[in-house]
Amino acid sequence: MERIKVHLDESEMPRQWYNVLADLPTPMKPPLHPGTGKPVTPEDLAPVFPMNLIEQEVSSHRWIDIPEPVLEKYCLWRPTPLFRARGFEKLLDAPVKIYYKNEGFSPPGSHKPNTAVPQAYYNKVFGIKRLSTETGAGQWGSALSMACKMFDLQCRVFMVRVSYDQKPYRRMMMSTWGAECIPSPSNITRAGRKILEETPDSPGSLGIAISEAIEDAVGDPQARYSLGSVLNHVLLHQTIIGLEAHKQLEKIGVYPDVVMGCAGGGSNFAGVSLPFVRDKIHGKDVSIVAAEPTSCPTITRGPFAYDFGDTAQTTPLLAMYTLGHDFVPAPIHAGGLRYHGMAPIVSHLTREKLVEARAFDQIETFTAGVNWARTEGYIPAPETNHVIAAVAQEAMRAKEEGKEKVILFNWSGHGLVDLASYDAFLSGKLTPYELPDEEIQRALKSIAGFPKP
Ligand SMILES: *Cc1c(COP(=O)(O)O)cnc(C)c1O
Repeated sequence: MERIKVHLDESEMPRQWYNVLADLPTPMKPPLHPGTGKPVTPEDLAPVFPMNLIEQEVSSHRWIDIPEPVLEKYCLWRPTPLFRARGFEKLLDAPVKIYYKNEGFSPPGSHKPNTAVPQAYYNKVFGIKRLSTETGAGQWGSALSMACKMFDLQCRVFMVRVSYDQKPYRRMMMSTWGAECIPSPSNITRAGRKILEETPDSPGSLGIAISEAIEDAVGDPQARYSLGSVLNHVLLHQTIIGLEAHKQLEKIGVYPDVVMGCAGGGSNFAGVSLPFVRDKIHGKDVSIVAAEPTSCPTITRGPFAYDFGDTAQTTPLLAMYTLGHDFVPAPIHAGGLRYHGMAPIVSHLTREKLVEARAFDQIETFTAGVNWARTEGYIPAPETNHVIAAVAQEAMRAKEEGKEKVILFNWSGHGLVDLASYDAFLSGKLTPYELPDEEIQRALKSIAGFPKP
């Protein structure tokens, strides 16, 4: 029988996260204080995050120990298996071997608890009582709700209005894990009330929800804010995925030609790929590819610029690919990955040509996802479908070139709570959508006058 899974024993799980900042060929542009235009200091961030996480955010240590209580919680679902996708390979009929990390095995069903658990832990040991955050489709909110309960913290989640109404099941998961879930824009923050005055039926956006969550956290000395993607410490925690994959592939004597992930804010893509970026910096021949939606084409069409992480302009200015902090994704877009910015680390690596990006529309992504479900069984999250479309495209290229390729990718989560978007696809209600050029012009206008990286 041919092998399908490669397991690691709990005792083989990596004990440290990998920090790519230690290996970057050129330094990253620092986050700037919007008032002074100077690099932000750890003290500037102290009302928002606990100091132990701020230290990780700015750390240049290559390896950072995973605390014992975090390892213990990780073991509820980690190490995740590395799968060989033989059924999907057969369907593609191309000279490729496809391996994937199944991050759908976690209790909330995605990679997000890899960072939610350590974030809750570090806040707890810093003496914080409550975390405030935002969520789009609810994966992050549900992951943080679970993690907060594990470390006895309260949790408040601002959920993008359109998802709150259309995707009730993760809201129910959050309640089950004991968190409070509020539709955003809400009337409990200034940022929310301002949006509601201008647009009473606003569908909300991640940027708006972030503004609300930060305002809520900063107003309560016992509370801090928590972000599920984009920031350096989040990407750091996610490297557990790629470190495990590295070990698992080593066990079977395989090294990938291509490493792929879908990219919303960039955390799961960075998680699977940064340990391989390290190899690439040291001379390995490996391609590293991010997949994003044509409806929110941050890396492939956005400018690299200083921009805010949120709509209300409360975060530091981050040097990143961006569609503008006032970006509101088209409501017709069913596939997730709607954040306007891209993690500064992923943006920097793209500028350094260590990483590249490709965009796919929602017909391509759901077609790939349905093909996957029909050959591999597991139903992918709509976000995950982007990387599956990228894998299929890469396989077709290998076929045309007559080249054998080993592909590793991160299967970021399952789609069992997103079946409504599958229903929309299967009943022909989805159409391909490309962000119009006017939207790029709007993005450029929204950052005009900001410092240039
Ligand atoms: C949140 C999420 C993503 C996108 O977020 P990143 O920070 O880019 O990883 C992708 N897939 C799933 C399943 C998610 O829950």
